[in-house]
Amino acid sequence: MVNLILFGPPGAGKGTQAERLAAHYGLKHISTGAVFRYNIDNKTQLGSLAKRYMDKGQLVPDNVTIDMFKEEVKKSARVWGFVFDGFPRTRVQADALDDFLAARGTAILKVLLLEVPDSDLVVRLLKRGEESGRTDDADEQLIRDRIAEYHAKTAPLIEYYQNRSKLEPVDGVGSIDAINARLVKLVDKTL
Ligand code: AMP
Repeated sequence: MVNLILFGPPGAGKGTQAERLAAHYGLKHISTGAVFRYNIDNKTQLGSLAKRYMDKGQLVPDNVTIDMFKEEVKKSARVWGFVFDGFPRTRVQADALDDFLAARGTAILKVLLLEVPDSDLVVRLLKRGEESGRTDDADEQLIRDRIAEYHAKTAPLIEYYQNRSKLEPVDGVGSIDAINARLVKLVDKTL
């Protein structure tokens, strides 16, 4: 299997690029944020729980996220790989992912880290908020809280994947096409 992680802060372009890569390589794109939003829109129990954290710019608790993630992956029985977008976001999630994939005889191939300066992220997310109507992108303080949450809980995973020789930093500034070309070049090298 080819399993990729799109990694980086909120607004780095993970969703856009994950979708492109999934289409390019015929992989299944899994976005935990999108699954949470789907549950919120459909007023499920999981949605109302997740919303309490998302509205504050905080991460949804690990146990809830991991259970939801596993269910989502299990729905895709006949795929030859995944692009994970927004998961893992904590060390506990990274360990759970490793175990989950190992039990299926597979592993993460590469972690593609989209590097974008924090100052660009705020501008990008406010713009996305205007265009997409995502409520968590409409409020500058909420954006800053999510970026802070990223630095505190998620960025430490960079070292985790670096130590496992999985990390590939990519310049995340530029046009969507240009960034996509950088990512494809990197992935092609490892296939
Ligand atoms: P995203 O669409 O990836 O920006 O995620 C939107 C929000 O969903 C985040 O700010 C978190 O509150 C929540 N979320 C998404 N993925 C995760 C995750 N792996 N762990 C915890 N919370 C998550």
